[in-house]
Amino acid sequence: MSNSAERIFNFSAGPAVLPLPVLEQAQRDLVALPGVGMSVLEISHRSKVFEEICFGAEADLRRLAGVPDGYHVLFLQGGATLQFSMVPMNLLPKGGGADYVDTGAWSAKAIQEARKVGDVHVAASSKATNHDRIPAAGELAWSAAPAYAHMTSNNTIFGTQYHHLPEPPAGVPLVNDASSDIFCRPLDVSKFGLIYAGAQKNLSIAGLTLVIVRDDLLARAPADLPVYLAYSTHAKERSLYNTPPVFAIYVLRLVLAQLLAEGGLDAVAERNQRKAGKLYAAIDGSGGFYRGHAQPASRSWMNVTYRLPSEELEKLFVREATAAGLDGLKGHRSVGGIRASIYNAFPEAGVDALVAFMAEFQRTHG
Ligand SMILES: *Cc1c(COP(=O)(O)O)cnc(C)c1O
Repeated sequence: MSNSAERIFNFSAGPAVLPLPVLEQAQRDLVALPGVGMSVLEISHRSKVFEEICFGAEADLRRLAGVPDGYHVLFLQGGATLQFSMVPMNLLPKGGGADYVDTGAWSAKAIQEARKVGDVHVAASSKATNHDRIPAAGELAWSAAPAYAHMTSNNTIFGTQYHHLPEPPAGVPLVNDASSDIFCRPLDVSKFGLIYAGAQKNLSIAGLTLVIVRDDLLARAPADLPVYLAYSTHAKERSLYNTPPVFAIYVLRLVLAQLLAEGGLDAVAERNQRKAGKLYAAIDGSGGFYRGHAQPASRSWMNVTYRLPSEELEKLFVREATAAGLDGLKGHRSVGGIRASIYNAFPEAGVDALVAFMAEFQRTHG
């Protein structure tokens, strides 16, 4: 039986909340897939049943995001973290260089790995102000002919998000770490050479990494690259080169069906913007008691970061919120304060509950 009545509001930054109907269906299907008599955990990844799940997930993803022809959709492992290495290993030719925009801790890790493969030019950085903003278009200083330009569309730790795409020089493929905001709104895939995302924030459970890659980039990898690290291997085998993360792909398929049933990414965007808007309004309307970390034009719809007047009050806020059934609000140590992660699956009622809690906390401790 479902334990849904016991669920609290989960503001975890990742792995994160999943849609309740997805959890309930996974629970129903766990012992025996309808008409199959075996669990998805027990069947061959070469079976017709699993192929239908895997290729069905790809088809739904293409439909949901409007992925154009000329792109491969890959289901990989190793998290976004392995992509920090795979991207330069596949796309950065010997002696070449790539441009990176440094907007936070995850960008910095991507830069660190790329430096092991080739030259990295940092086109802009928000480090001087503790990554409280996305660099403006005019600040981006691209190098002459980078192999690609890398961005991080949502900065999970700092709570900033791009609301306008950067424009690298013509012909330079844009690569995006979209781990924490993928499918939070419509996405024009044709603007990118490659998009990657660890699944455990907005897509599915941990263990799966989504890569959407433009076909012409598959041929760039050096011939001596280990077979498993080449995008072309997984493209050729439709993500079935070896045993894929079967359960994570199954959960992805359920999440995609849920997003399609909710009306697609336009509807999802409308709800996400409304949810984030309520929280930022509560921060801005608090007369300075709550102070947002991100500059207003760079505010994230997915991770809302803010401070209170003292660390003591922040500790008390987290403690009392947890007791009130609002879990996972402690901010990352590099920002401090509070971080409310409100991904696609986070219910609007939870945002309303946090807004009410914030008002009451300020009334009693302000
Ligand atoms: C969580 C996160 C990562 C790390 O993802 P893993 O799947 O744990 O490797 C990288 N980039 C961003 C933007 C993230 O939010």
